[in-house]
Amino acid sequence: MIEISHVDKSYGAFQVLTDCTTQVRKGEVVVVCGPSGSGKSTLIKCVNALEPFQRGRITVDGVSVGDPKTDLNRLRARVGMVFQHFELFPHLSIEDNLSIAQVKVLKRSASEARTASMALLQRVGMRAHAHKFPSQLSGGQQQRVAIARALAMNPVAMLFDEPTSALDPEMVNEVLDVMVELAREGMTMMCVTHEMGFARKVANRVIFMDRGRIVEDCAKEEFFGNPSGRSDRARQFLSKIL
Ligand code: ATP
Ligand code: MG
Repeated sequence: MIEISHVDKSYGAFQVLTDCTTQVRKGEVVVVCGPSGSGKSTLIKCVNALEPFQRGRITVDGVSVGDPKTDLNRLRARVGMVFQHFELFPHLSIEDNLSIAQVKVLKRSASEARTASMALLQRVGMRAHAHKFPSQLSGGQQQRVAIARALAMNPVAMLFDEPTSALDPEMVNEVLDVMVELAREGMTMMCVTHEMGFARKVANRVIFMDRGRIVEDCAKEEFFGNPSGRSDRARQFLSKIL
């Protein structure tokens, strides 16, 4: 579903990603972790073309991300992305936050969009808040709406960049629960997160990045179960967060 092959990326003279190769198969959940500055956000931004890369190849569902002929708006609609900071449209109601792109990008009628929006809000436990504005919701609620909004585009895969790290601790689980459910329903997911409870529950694989390289890419059982097989950096990192 997502194929990343020998990707190098620099910001100016600074090389952020070096020879990154991995793949996320259909229905697979891959957790990406690693120290601050290791390139996790950059890697997933390359996947939906929010950042260009200089070398290598990325394809999503067979569509090449770096190909100038690729329609990036269509690509981005097919890959949902949820960031650390809930980026809802502040001037739109929750329902309109979900409906607007369905009307503009998917060309749905207003009533079709509304029906789909309400069903998705139901799914993330936010239906009763549909008429509110983002500022009237807690961080955890806004993040659940952000997930529903991404799902409204019928994505083939979802990317998450530390979706819970800006939340107060008591709100983390309500967002993780939605993600766990999504994973169990078979969504293809690439998640940057340090929530190792989430990784243990639903990840198929764990990727560990360090200084722009993928230094570990293995099955969850192996990642958590085999400390001696791990790189020193991964071991150090895990000992700090577990
Ligand atoms: P964190 O855990 O703190 O979110 P990360 O693993 O997501 O870190 P990135 O945000 O991908 O790391 O950044 C990787 C490196 O690239 C860092 O050294 C960062 O300073 C640098 N970097 C990120 N964005 C830019 C940019 N727009 N211009 C220049 N350098 C950047
Ligand atoms: Mg980051």
